[in-house]
Amino acid sequence: MSRFDLSRDELAALLEGEPSYRVEQLWRAFHLEHLDVSEVTTLPRPLRQRLALEPALALAWRVARESTSDGGATRKWLLEADDGARVETVLMGYRRRTTVCVSSQAGCAMGCSFCATGQLGFGRHLSSGEIVEQVVLAAGEAARAGFGRLGNIVFMGMGEPLANAANVLGAVARVNRDLGIGARSVTLSTVGVVPGIERLATEPLQVNLAVSLHAANDELRDRLVPINRRYPLGRLMEACRRYREATRRRISFEWALIAGVNDRPVDAAELAALARPLGAHVNLIPLNPTPGYPVAGTDAAGVAAFRDALSERGVNATVRHTRGREVDAACGQLAAGMEVGGLGRRRPARVAAPAPLA
Ligand code: SAH
Ligand code: SF4
Repeated sequence: MSRFDLSRDELAALLEGEPSYRVEQLWRAFHLEHLDVSEVTTLPRPLRQRLALEPALALAWRVARESTSDGGATRKWLLEADDGARVETVLMGYRRRTTVCVSSQAGCAMGCSFCATGQLGFGRHLSSGEIVEQVVLAAGEAARAGFGRLGNIVFMGMGEPLANAANVLGAVARVNRDLGIGARSVTLSTVGVVPGIERLATEPLQVNLAVSLHAANDELRDRLVPINRRYPLGRLMEACRRYREATRRRISFEWALIAGVNDRPVDAAELAALARPLGAHVNLIPLNPTPGYPVAGTDAAGVAAFRDALSERGVNATVRHTRGREVDAACGQLAAGMEVGGLGRRRPARVAAPAPLA
């Protein structure tokens, strides 16, 4: 739990007996920076001391480690909670707008073979407040570092957001209301949890949806993304179609390009056949190597050829700029403190790296 799980009324109740403006003062201070109550120097010292003892006002996360890359523009924090849960949050600073990549779970139960988080296994769900707290930490650091205002949130850190949909949507509503970041600036990336996509189709909050596809036939997708056995491509595409119809919003497909596995002309053709009718945009990410899946990402020429093959079939694709590779902050490399253990213990990859197909 985090202080950001409290409502304003609950905060007011904790401040009973104090002048009423204190509620607003503290609420604002909390949303400005990731500070302990004892450090909120606008409050009188005796009040600070009293509130510092209040468990409901505590922060969930301690920054256990910070790593930077790209000349300081990419910052990754390893965060640790009192129960030992560890997650990672990545801030990507650009001059005009800054993006934070947040975690929705400690570890992940989905077991995708190529993903460092999947190789870690499941720890626990994060509460809404624990997600909001990551955004507050990032916003404060972005301001301090002189980056552009934190305007975008992507759920591409640890965990599967639609396996923790209630808390994730609660967090989106809160950042919307309390930090002024609109749902349209929030992207949920899902491995394809069909009931979650169906729920998003009826949600009033209009977030962007990215679906991590990686394979466009069931045989290959079953191996790369085990949840495909439960929600195969037919059902997934049907859910995407309904989402698109209900929200009129464009979907994007994420595709980690794996050398010799899903980067052949036939893969591009199959992907285009799924993306085109949906008007989906494709994000191509050369696979980042992980300890449990020592297969190379597609090289630059191969990536360009794949993009061109999509474009010839009328599908727009963007090659995702990989940030933070040297601090393992890039997609799928988040494996919070794997070397140290903790909740979300390391366990061997359940799905062995597939041999490259002929
Ligand atoms: N669980 C969600 C969100 C977190 S993963 C999901 O899977 O969509 C964020 C993105 O990184 C996903 O598109 C995921 O497929 C991708 N990814 C995972 N491992 C990767 C790797 N080793 N290299 C490149 N991208 C990877
Ligand atoms: Fe979980 Fe996403 Fe990694 Fe799959 S790719 S194991 S869903 S975090």
